[in-house]
Amino acid sequence: MIDNDIIEDIKSKADIVSIISQYTDTTKKGRNYWAVCPFHQDTSPSMSVSPDKNIYKCFVCGAGGNVFTFVQEYKKISFVEVAQSIGYDMSKLGSLKVKPVDKKAEALFEMNKDAMNYFKTILKTTEGIKAKQYLDGRKIFEDEINEYNIGYASNSGLCNFLEKKGYPLQMIIAGGLAGEKEGEVYDNFRNRIIFPILDINGKVLGFSGRTLNQDSKFAKYINTKETYVFKKKEILYNINNAIQDIRKSKKLYICEGFTDVITLSRCGVKKVVAAMGTAI
Ligand code: ZN
Repeated sequence: MIDNDIIEDIKSKADIVSIISQYTDTTKKGRNYWAVCPFHQDTSPSMSVSPDKNIYKCFVCGAGGNVFTFVQEYKKISFVEVAQSIGYDMSKLGSLKVKPVDKKAEALFEMNKDAMNYFKTILKTTEGIKAKQYLDGRKIFEDEINEYNIGYASNSGLCNFLEKKGYPLQMIIAGGLAGEKEGEVYDNFRNRIIFPILDINGKVLGFSGRTLNQDSKFAKYINTKETYVFKKKEILYNINNAIQDIRKSKKLYICEGFTDVITLSRCGVKKVVAAMGTAI
């Protein structure tokens, strides 16, 4: 638990206008600001933001609160959670229920995050030189490598790394990061550029790996197999980066490939995602 005094102190120092402006358009009118409300289908600015009182209030849907409630409500993707947080009559939602914390999913997210960081580190070593050259050829440089958390999987190493971190082998296999054949354990992603796939909240769902091998016997891309958290049909690559622009404009573009997403985004088209293969 965080001390109440600390919360009050942060609240008094946080600039509610600049924080809300990161998520939606705001205009100054008199002492207050007006923002396009992100919590309902708003067309004209309906949300009043008071820098003096450090609060916001939407006069259409009733969303309101302080800087904490805004960020909490905004960042939640679940409609149910947003509805609940604005005091919506939950019985109207029928069978939809608020999900309790899913410990099994959280454990996989944590392992995937460690794997992502491992792949990112390997890309920066001498092992990752060929991968770097490929990315250079695609004009994907340092900034975008970081923005999209791109990494490299060499022929082996991930499984050992994860086991040393304390993840049980069965979990690594179930999470789609390793396989086992006749008692031999191997990394599933080998000699591939790694594109991590994050959900709307930035949790690492799984990976897609592009081979660096010219030989056509290697599939150009492989994805994490279907796991408890990686469900191809429900996944949009880059949704974690694009969601704010999608919410603002209520539009999105769907591309075929990850590099298309990166290229479009580089040209200023930010509300862009890619479907996973033919799953759409
Ligand atoms: Zn509203």
